Amino acid sequence: MSNKHVVLIGAGMMSATLATLIKKLEPSWQITILERASLPGTESSNVMNNAGTGHEALCELNYTPEEADGTINTSKAVEIYNQFQVSKQLWAHLVESGDIEHPGEFIQSLPHISFVLGEKNINFLSKRYEKLQSVPAFKRMDFTQDADEIEAWSPLIMKERDINGEPFAATKIDGGTDVDFGKLAKKMIDALEKDPHVTVYYNTDVTSLKQSSDKTWEVKAKNEALGTIEHYIADFLFIGAGGNSIPLLQKTKIPQSKNLGGFPISGQFLYCDKPEIVQAHNAKAYGKEPEGTLPMTVPHLDKRYVDGKEVLLFGPFAAFGPKFLKNGSNLDFFKHLKGNNLLTMAAAGLKNIPLIKYSVEQVLMSKEDKLDELRRFVPSAQSNDWDVIVAGKRVQVIKDLSKSNRGVIHFGTEVVNSDDRTLSALLGESPGASTSASVALEVLEDNFAKEFTGDWQAKLKEMIPSLGVDMNDDVELLEAVWEKTNKYLELN
Ligand SMILES: Cc1cc2nc3c(=O)[nH]c(=O)nc-3n(C[C@H](O)[C@H](O)[C@H](O)COP(=O)(O)OP(=O)(O)OC[C@H]3O[C@@H](n4cnc5c(N)ncnc54)[C@H](O)[C@@H]3O)c2cc1C
Repeated sequence: MSNKHVVLIGAGMMSATLATLIKKLEPSWQITILERASLPGTESSNVMNNAGTGHEALCELNYTPEEADGTINTSKAVEIYNQFQVSKQLWAHLVESGDIEHPGEFIQSLPHISFVLGEKNINFLSKRYEKLQSVPAFKRMDFTQDADEIEAWSPLIMKERDINGEPFAATKIDGGTDVDFGKLAKKMIDALEKDPHVTVYYNTDVTSLKQSSDKTWEVKAKNEALGTIEHYIADFLFIGAGGNSIPLLQKTKIPQSKNLGGFPISGQFLYCDKPEIVQAHNAKAYGKEPEGTLPMTVPHLDKRYVDGKEVLLFGPFAAFGPKFLKNGSNLDFFKHLKGNNLLTMAAAGLKNIPLIKYSVEQVLMSKEDKLDELRRFVPSAQSNDWDVIVAGKRVQVIKDLSKSNRGVIHFGTEVVNSDDRTLSALLGESPGASTSASVALEVLEDNFAKEFTGDWQAKLKEMIPSLGVDMNDDVELLEAVWEKTNKYLELN
């Protein structure tokens, strides 16, 4: 294939992953990354802006919903599990090939726990555990209602808990992870920058996107450090601008950018770095979302590794704020309202009263209210041991599915491609950075179908042996992947 010039907007986890894959598959293509911040991975991918869970459905209960007939549906859990293994294989390959070093700086092993209160939730957890026993990836999971056993898994969860009060149960599975996606993005971009075909421009804010008659994209950006306006020409353009992807997609004026909007939700966590408290919880523990609320309301208590220091995060607590990036502008939300999405957004407002109610309730929560939530996980929590910190932005995608079904909120990551396959934008976030490799592969498959199914297959399979396979159907492959990723990522 002839050499192409690929321009990627944003230097977060998603652009870092896509650029890395392109470099591996087509070493002679020119790659330009444009980033408005002065460093890579400082927005949602930054360690303090997300929970760092390597999402593989080991503990997140929303990936195994209970059907109306009471059975547990495991298909989403299996999908997320396989996607995370794809990411891990790519990262292991980068370590094996010497592109990145010191994996312990971005990924750590941690048991993943699900912890629930109340008979109804215990019944759900027990059914989920039973169902997952037949899926090889989840076979090592343990279930218990025994206070001593849960205390051994997490002393902090059991400290000062009334064991004769509300009933509780938990599952635990080893082999989960905590990931510093910001550091990983930086390592990937640092590795890319060593290549003469790759250039990364920081302090460079993309302001306009226009397609020329030859189908190339003209990208206009302001260099904030120099005050200059720069122009870049892309054969293929990737908008990986996190929360800012929707406004940038609107600038392309392609049909896919119409009747589309974003609902920004900012996150907050309770944060604790007192060593005696942090040491008493060596896991990520996910609960069950309160009945009738959204998956994003799932409370979780996360051990995190931040620049080598161990801390705890609890949350997330959501709030509405008009910025599309943590370091964005209060005008972001209002500026993105256009003639073509006003009806979409109005319909979303009417349809999603529970989301608005939930957001308002969250905004009104005091620190003490947040601590009360935390005390369901950590009964001994004291206010002066925990601080409220602001996390990153989630911009939920809102779009019309048809003229009669307007303003539907889309949960999850969404890849939007132009009809002529010269542009791709990544919208939404959950399950987010964990699935970055699968999402980047989807971008490549959608836009370079011939190469993806042809010349690139051998290299892809070498990097990611489980590509396109449900490893639960091939236990030998599952074990080989565990062995290899554990070895190169230094996990246990
Ligand atoms: C509270 C919270 C908790 C989360 N928890 C998890 C978790 O536990 N596990 C998980 O896997 N995922 C989690 N996520 C999701 C995860 O953080 C994101 O999916 C991921 O970081 C997105 O990466 P990105 O590269 O798309 O975006 P970002 O990291 O936000 O990068 C986008 C980049 O684009 C740049 N940019 C924006 N506009 C412009 C412009 N005009 N010109 C140039 N550059 C621009 C920004 O400066 C930024 O650097 C969480 C997110 C939040 C908010």
